[in-house]
Amino acid sequence: MKALKVSDEIESYCGKCKMTLAHSIVALVDGAPAKVRCLTCFSDHKPRKEPGTAATKTKKKKSTTSTKSSPWQEQMRMWSVEKATPYTISKTYSVDEFINHKKFGKGIVTRIPSPEKIIALFESGEKMLLQGHVKR
Ligand SMILES: [Zn+2]
Repeated sequence: MKALKVSDEIESYCGKCKMTLAHSIVALVDGAPAKVRCLTCFSDHKPRKEPGTAATKTKKKKSTTSTKSSPWQEQMRMWSVEKATPYTISKTYSVDEFINHKKFGKGIVTRIPSPEKIIALFESGEKMLLQGHVKR
């Protein structure tokens, strides 16, 4: 495998052309294409796979689809008071850590956008919270 570089051609799905077409890489992040340009309509966008390609096989899924649970409910199956950390502004957290927030309740850390911030998923949705905040 050779490393990708800017201006290399890759195949990506174009939302404007509504099909998978040749694109040239406009920007790379960590060696992976972050932005591509459609060589057909010349629009820039994130590289993506053609939507619905997995559906072409039409797998039989009947019983499990009726009871849809939210991503939060999925995560909360694993949640327990013993494993959860009470949320306080001064602590630091890691991704997938269970937290217990006074106001929002049970949650899980989904992303850490910066050393001072975490994004956690609560029943009411994703919230950005501060972490590692030391009072001076
Ligand atoms: Zn296009």
